[in-house]
Amino acid sequence: MTIDRNPTRTWTPRTLAAQALGRVDEASRAIVPPVHIATTYLRDPDNQYRSGNIYGRPDNETVREAEAVIAALEGAAAAMVLGSGMSAATAVFLALAPGDHVVVPQTMYWWLRNWLLGDATRWGLRVEVVDTGDLDAVRAAMRPGETKLVWIETPSNPLWSLTDIAGVAAIAHAAGAAVTVDSTCATPMLTRPLEHGADIVLHAATKYLNGHSDVIAGALATARTDQLWERIRRNRSTLGQILGPLEAYLLIRGMRTFPLRVMAACASAMALAERLSGHPAVAEVLYPGLPGHPGHAIARRQMQGGFGGMLSIRVRDGEGAAIAAAARVELWKRATSLGGVESLIEHRASMEGEGSPCPPDLLRLSTGIEDPDDLFADLDRALRGANS
Ligand code: PLP
Repeated sequence: MTIDRNPTRTWTPRTLAAQALGRVDEASRAIVPPVHIATTYLRDPDNQYRSGNIYGRPDNETVREAEAVIAALEGAAAAMVLGSGMSAATAVFLALAPGDHVVVPQTMYWWLRNWLLGDATRWGLRVEVVDTGDLDAVRAAMRPGETKLVWIETPSNPLWSLTDIAGVAAIAHAAGAAVTVDSTCATPMLTRPLEHGADIVLHAATKYLNGHSDVIAGALATARTDQLWERIRRNRSTLGQILGPLEAYLLIRGMRTFPLRVMAACASAMALAERLSGHPAVAEVLYPGLPGHPGHAIARRQMQGGFGGMLSIRVRDGEGAAIAAAARVELWKRATSLGGVESLIEHRASMEGEGSPCPPDLLRLSTGIEDPDDLFADLDRALRGANS
């Protein structure tokens, strides 16, 4: 996988990320980009704004720098960063019109699902929930001329089910609908959804792209700067959803190491999935890298270099035992979120509440970059019920 930035050279995503595209600040020759915090910009004497910057709500060079890196990593025509993954996701839906029909997956980020079934429906979107892993179900849900967007998340929270991006894109496009992929957990290291036919990619950049659990941010990348994209951009300016420059800087810094972090997390998650399969306290391991996982064949086709850092386990003795095991860990941190350098464990059903497809005996694991032997030893101890 290589990316054209200069027609005479190609760099891999790892190289592009490490140097944040290799840009050097012209004024200072600094190899780290400056943070632009101004909220307003000087108008030229002849009344023009030739810098392209007018006011901070739409315009910020540090934000543009982060966007250039994300666009290059996704092979996108353009990217946009916003104040959170949720603001990026809702920005896409709110760029549609009341009355539009949208198809969304059964298994997806729970807060977005709740918003879609609540506020978005009240606002006028007609939201249809289907198993997007089943292409026949997606086909049956399409209403040509009315369906404007198919939303997928792959691998999806918290069961790590896979959706065939190319399969969904072919069905959606035939009916005149666009496809957005929440690719937060795959990251551009493992999957580049636009290459599989998606129109827009979303990242909760809070997760792997930043990777240090210290920035809330969202990103969108688009295959083309069409009318939908321009509506999203206009809404971002009008509603004030742009990411702050300090956060944009931290995101750029985080992205420099994200390929290495993702590769380490993938290797550890695979090792943990294998070691936990057959563990006496574990009824099932949900990880797309395992040959028995229902999405394994799609994952092999669609993901390169690994199957992600996220996995879930179902605890044999049920919900109480799962919560008790999470209470006993010492190295894993009992917290929500994912994609950071530190490993996190979460009893997910407690978070998602009613309507969630998450089984009550499930513990979600976000593998960080610690030594996988230490991670396994801590989990093993916690699952077996020993305190030290
Ligand atoms: N998408 C996925 C897959 C997520 O896990 C999350 C948050 O956990 C989001 C979107 C929303 O991102 P944020 O918390 O930055 O709003």
